[in-house]
Amino acid sequence: MPEKFDAIVVGAGPSGNAATYTLAKAGLKVLQIERGEYPGSKNVQGAILYSDALEKIIPDFREDAPLERHIIEQRMWLLDDQSFVGTHFRSEDYNKPPYNRYTIIRAQFDKWFSSKVREAGALLICETTVEQLLMDGDRVVGVRCDRIGGDVFADVVILADGVNSTLARKAGFHPEIQARNVALAVKEILFMPEEVIQARFNIGEEEGVVIEMMGSVTEGMVGTGFLYTNKDSLTIGVGCMLSDFKTNPNRTTPYALLEKLKRHPSIAPLIEGGEMKEYCAHLIPEGGFHAVPKIFGHGWMIVGDSGGFVNAAHREGSNLAMTTGRLAAETVIHAKAAGKAMDAKTLSAYKAALDDSFVMKDLKKYRDLPEVLHNSPHFFSTYPGLVNRAAQTMFTVDGVDKKTKEREVLGSFKAARKLTGLVGDAVKLWRAVR
Ligand SMILES: Cc1cc2nc3c(=O)[nH]c(=O)nc-3n(C[C@H](O)[C@H](O)[C@H](O)COP(=O)(O)OP(=O)(O)OC[C@H]3O[C@@H](n4cnc5c(N)ncnc54)[C@H](O)[C@@H]3O)c2cc1C
Repeated sequence: MPEKFDAIVVGAGPSGNAATYTLAKAGLKVLQIERGEYPGSKNVQGAILYSDALEKIIPDFREDAPLERHIIEQRMWLLDDQSFVGTHFRSEDYNKPPYNRYTIIRAQFDKWFSSKVREAGALLICETTVEQLLMDGDRVVGVRCDRIGGDVFADVVILADGVNSTLARKAGFHPEIQARNVALAVKEILFMPEEVIQARFNIGEEEGVVIEMMGSVTEGMVGTGFLYTNKDSLTIGVGCMLSDFKTNPNRTTPYALLEKLKRHPSIAPLIEGGEMKEYCAHLIPEGGFHAVPKIFGHGWMIVGDSGGFVNAAHREGSNLAMTTGRLAAETVIHAKAAGKAMDAKTLSAYKAALDDSFVMKDLKKYRDLPEVLHNSPHFFSTYPGLVNRAAQTMFTVDGVDKKTKEREVLGSFKAARKLTGLVGDAVKLWRAVR
């Protein structure tokens, strides 16, 4: 690889593929380096794909992308050990193309995205790890790979290397990852006939359901569970903050939580008979706005999970990854067209574009949420139980009058959190999400 490239992209997940595709499509000479055997071989997601971000990169992606089901129903469940209180939103509007969200299997999706990247003219090299950035003073001028003669040079290097952001940390661009800024999630894919999925979830062919859950399943730790319908499989998973796993007095493990979720009486019948063919664990950067590091400098930019671009409140990550990848690439394209050097001043346009997009606006909106949740464990322990018992009290017909029941419910909330605690929690939560 003697020649110099316009850009090198490290990583072939959604952020790296979005950046590489956009650059190659504009006619730039791009090298993409991926350590996995093939793109997607190492990548983990739930996985919900949000169409909007991909549409902006490949408008006709629906023609041949490997999509499982489009989502027509969103369920949110607050779990107790025996029950759940939930809201379901289902709309026929979600059944009209172009569909807004799909379930996908990342190994297949990343392979497909990568085929588009190569069609666009980029050079992809797999099974190659970038070990460090090559510097000329404070300027990144290329990368060193784990191959003989593995030094490659470019005007700009885009780091799309995922949540561990090893390269940025080594180069001192990114601080060490804090356990309270990352969640550890585990998931399984359980296979069963399509007709069984459709009957159990009350959906037709190609229609899908999302269930997001919080409550007793995370044993008081900050975290959530999820269950998604694929074509002929279900994805079920749970994730909690790494800092909580470390300090949890019961030393609960992620897979123990997943087993517990699978045994829940409201979940078990939905997944019964499913044959587990895939099990994986992965970190998710959930530190939010305050954990986003510096994302550009002389000759470098950071995109996707490597920059902490995940909106945990809405379980969005891949769309932020693709959007940051696209915006970074567009910055390079404009700079190149204007004949500008790829220095920090030029690349600061990437940050400006991000600030102007939903990515930073959403992260900013929820900037205080991670801190509030860390400091308010009762949102994950006390309240789910209280809400479930309140529902049980109100819906059980036992000769007790409704006023008395209401007093009992109110009394249980006050006994658990006192009136000042209840008001304080409501205000804290409202401030964190307003
Ligand atoms: C359990 C789970 C569920 C999720 N669910 C959803 C969901 O439903 N919807 C959603 O939008 N998001 C979800 N996310 C988040 C989403 O998966 C990420 O935000 C997204 O994958 C980030 O993409 P990325 O390209 O930045 O990083 P990644 O997808 O992690 O890709 C990074 C790539 O870089 C490669 N790499 C790393 N280091 C090197 C190196 N030194 N040299 C060469 N290659 C390297 C890796 O092999 C990998 O292919 C979920 C995440 C998890 C873990």
